[in-house]
Amino acid sequence: MKISMIGTGYVGLVSGVCFAEFGFDVTCVDIDAAKIERLNRLEVPIYEPGLDEVLARNHAAGRLTFTTDFDAAVASSDVVFIAVGTPSRRGDGEADLTYVFDAARRIARAMKPGAVVVIKSTVVVGTCRKVKEIIAAERPDVDFSIASNPEFLREGSAIEDFMRPDRVIAGVEDERGEAALRRLYRPLNLREAPLVVSSLENAELTKYAANAFLAMKITFINEIADLCEKVGGDVQRVATGIGLDNRIGSKFLHAGPGYGGSCFPKDTTAIAATARKLGAPLRLIETTIEVNEARKKAMAQRVLAALGPQTAGRIVAVFGVAFKPNTDDVRDAPSLVIIPELQKAGVTVRAHDPEGRAQAEPLLPGVVWCEGPYEAAEGADAVAVLTEWNVYRGLDLGKLKECMAGRMVVDMRNIYRPEEAAAAGLRHIGIGKPPAG
Ligand code: NAD
Repeated sequence: MKISMIGTGYVGLVSGVCFAEFGFDVTCVDIDAAKIERLNRLEVPIYEPGLDEVLARNHAAGRLTFTTDFDAAVASSDVVFIAVGTPSRRGDGEADLTYVFDAARRIARAMKPGAVVVIKSTVVVGTCRKVKEIIAAERPDVDFSIASNPEFLREGSAIEDFMRPDRVIAGVEDERGEAALRRLYRPLNLREAPLVVSSLENAELTKYAANAFLAMKITFINEIADLCEKVGGDVQRVATGIGLDNRIGSKFLHAGPGYGGSCFPKDTTAIAATARKLGAPLRLIETTIEVNEARKKAMAQRVLAALGPQTAGRIVAVFGVAFKPNTDDVRDAPSLVIIPELQKAGVTVRAHDPEGRAQAEPLLPGVVWCEGPYEAAEGADAVAVLTEWNVYRGLDLGKLKECMAGRMVVDMRNIYRPEEAAAAGLRHIGIGKPPAG
């Protein structure tokens, strides 16, 4: 079975590489010629642990190729995946489906009879049907199938997530579409990943409902953290206590500076906008979005409060700008709100991130970029931990204190033990727990 993967971003590239690893013949297509050139030199344009190795192996085996030649790739494929971006549309927050519809038109012109077009991008309910209409209008003569197969991988553990998913969602409307998805994911059956076969609409909604629920769960524990601070509680203890209840589960109960990234912010906004338009408003999600936005600003205020009344001219070392560890992705990261708020108050920000600098630098003017956390902490009045990269977890806190001019550590990921920070002479301000030191 030959596959084309249209769009070689975080999702398309990882999916394409993993399908090649399953033994399929995969062509990854992108309109970004520079990206394809790099891929052809076996340079991975994103930071994703382990991806370079699997990519090189499958390329060497001849199962994985990269091209800008859209038509040639599609014309020879049995299955064509659409994995292009679906960013937020300016103004109304709905998903911008331009890239999906453009890809659909181009697929229509080149595809062979009997092809299955699978939408992997996160798209609002009804999009698969629109794509079907677009293709049918371009090529009324050609028989084809449409399917929805939303992706649930997480950046930073994308290969593992793709290879060992909790489930695979297959939205189909005919046997050919279902058979194609069953065959593509058969290698996973060994690991008992359930394939949930349903309608196109159910599959589309499942993806948004899942992301909205997870965003709400994070926001819930963040609000519980605020309450813990008022009553002298410890949110980590509370999260452990509730997470052991199987009905709740322990994942996504880590309090922090608010969710960010390339999915939760845009997907919550998109599902809320769609639901509002359809007259079934999602009030919980509307509130989640509002609370999360406010939280990022509140985190900046927390750092400013730690500096005391005089903020102008002070120095803050920021550890981590990526929205989470093990990725270079900074899209909608809390750092993009928190750092400018600090700068507005006259603070100089010295930042470090193991992988996120290249993406963040153009978005965060005025930041002093450093090669490592100790360098960032040089002369700083406070350290703010925004991303829980492993490299920050094991720092010598005594050495950190020596680098700094002040002693405040605003630990937004609760990676340091308050008593250890206090023993090193630092004042530790965590999330949802009493300050120490
Ligand atoms: P991305 O921005 O990293 O990549 C999109 C790619 O598509 C880019 O390389 C772009 O050049 C290419 N592209 C755009 N139009 C094209 C066209 N007509 N033909 C060929 N290529 C084209 O996006 P991403 O993060 O990979 O996300 C893709 C989709 O997957 C989105 O809908 C997103 O919501 C969803 N998703 C993302 C993640 C994630 O963690 N990033 C997880 C699950 C689902």
